[in-house]
Amino acid sequence: MIEISKREKEIEKIKEEVLNCKKCSLYKTRTYSVVGEGSHQAKIIFIGEAPGFNEDKTGYPFCGEAGKILDELLSSVGHRREDIYIANILKCRPPQNRNPKTEEIEACAPYLEKQIEIIKPKVICTLGNYSTAYIFEKYGLKDQIQGISKIHGKIFEVKSLFQNIKIIPLYHPAVATYNPNMKEILKKDFQILKDFKK
Ligand code: URA
Ligand code: SF4
Repeated sequence: MIEISKREKEIEKIKEEVLNCKKCSLYKTRTYSVVGEGSHQAKIIFIGEAPGFNEDKTGYPFCGEAGKILDELLSSVGHRREDIYIANILKCRPPQNRNPKTEEIEACAPYLEKQIEIIKPKVICTLGNYSTAYIFEKYGLKDQIQGISKIHGKIFEVKSLFQNIKIIPLYHPAVATYNPNMKEILKKDFQILKDFKK
């Protein structure tokens, strides 16, 4: 229990920092920053790119169309959203959902790194190219970065300070909103997650 409440406190501290953060220019156009959501004891953490329109308006990650697909994918392998943790590389929405800039990722990623340190997941699922590139670089897999179309659904094992972590790159669920074939590919890739229950 002590460990649980310590994690709550540490995540709460990050949340406060993120809500007031002005480390990059995205603070000027955001409505709410989006720290992340889910279990602080999660075995699996999903890392998306950045808040979109709905996330910016509510402060919650993956609460729009991409979120519906993510929920469907999770339930197809028996996971509930409240058992996992979801965060993004950028905590504030880029205007018109444009791609993240390098300087924004550099400014914001320390928050994500702290979240990973606190939650200590066994599995990190990266959603899409930006998230995959960032995590691969952080865990010394830079020479294995290829387009997500080449590496999606594969498991990459790395050692971190606290434990071994499995990194699983996945397509971003948003790709399935305009391409139903992609949903089938995502569903197949998600099958791996059946092996990582609570
Ligand atoms: N896309 C993302 O990458 N993150 C969200 O939170 C929502 C959509
Ligand atoms: Fe701060 Fe990140 Fe928002 Fe930039 S995107 S203002 S670094 S919380």
